Amino acid sequence: MLAELIHPLAAMGAQEWPYRPRPSSAGPNQCLRKLVYHAREFPRRQAHGRFLVVLDDSSWHEELTLNWIEQSALQLRDRQTEVVCGETVFAGEPYTILGHIDGIVTDLLGIDRLLEHKAIEHFTFQRYAEGDYPLDYFAQVCLYLRGITQLNPDIDEALLLIKNKNQSAYLEYRLHYDLPNDRLTVCEIVHSNGERSFPKQDVIGLYRQALARFAQIEQHRADQTLPDRPYEDDSNYHCQYCPYSRLCWEGHVAPVLTNTVPLSPDMAALAAEYLDLDARIKPLNKRFDQVKKLLKAGLKMEQAIEAEGHGFIVRINQSTQIRHDVNLLPSYVQELAETTLPIEKLSVSRVAQERGPLQADPDPRVA
Ligand code: SF4
Repeated sequence: MLAELIHPLAAMGAQEWPYRPRPSSAGPNQCLRKLVYHAREFPRRQAHGRFLVVLDDSSWHEELTLNWIEQSALQLRDRQTEVVCGETVFAGEPYTILGHIDGIVTDLLGIDRLLEHKAIEHFTFQRYAEGDYPLDYFAQVCLYLRGITQLNPDIDEALLLIKNKNQSAYLEYRLHYDLPNDRLTVCEIVHSNGERSFPKQDVIGLYRQALARFAQIEQHRADQTLPDRPYEDDSNYHCQYCPYSRLCWEGHVAPVLTNTVPLSPDMAALAAEYLDLDARIKPLNKRFDQVKKLLKAGLKMEQAIEAEGHGFIVRINQSTQIRHDVNLLPSYVQELAETTLPIEKLSVSRVAQERGPLQADPDPRVA
């Protein structure tokens, strides 16, 4: 009775947001073509109710996290304060880019930092936890920090706090912004499982790139054009969640690969590097797996979850994961779920000897 009710209700209340240059669409990994479709008001597929509920959940996750922060010794203030993030052109007119910050956090030493909260699903969270940078969120933070310095010039750092919605794990990036040079430095990354690192890595030009992209969108709107698709086919996850995917890929036929062509010197250099890396990675991977097994076995022999000494901590982080075992499903369900997916595999091999130019047989005979 209720399970079927929520998603249609969400779909009924769906709102259309007209395109505006916003901090949340400033990131370099956003599909430019999708933003141009939006700016040019192409018809979009109506969002599924479940997707809208997922988005709504994210804002409630933010509320829950901020409630926890408010119960700590840290101070949280200025929630949803509007800031001016920059100037661009929109619909042929000068346009002020506005944003709303999640808040300012003051630590025990009295240092203020911008807070930006995101709640995301498990797999993207894992990607970030394993080292990928969330560049779109970084770009958003750059815009907010530019806005906040107009209210308080002493704030030059942000805490980007990302919550894993499935497991309530948190990942926190402490980011420093050098405004005149548009340089964002990843100072510190803390995982709620206790892992901590200090990458001190710079990401330069996110704000400049964002303004350039807003200008490109305006140009496409004025010229009534679309930028190229940045992905090879619609299997990319950006396209799978895109409300313009049907329109975008309609009639698109992937070129059939039939030609054999001479390899350029640049491609030959890449092929040589590929083989070289492959030869080096395989034994390293094998040894890496062996070392991992030995470390785990060493802890388990002592019935230990963690061991510390000689400047190292070795720990087994235990968690659970939900997976689908297809063998437990009835065979007719397995058959229904069967689909044919295109697979592309690259193979590179060395040619023993350069073949000479093909020569015509001086004495052709017909067999
Ligand atoms: S379908 Fe893919 S390529 Fe096309 S606009 Fe959407 S995200 Fe971009």
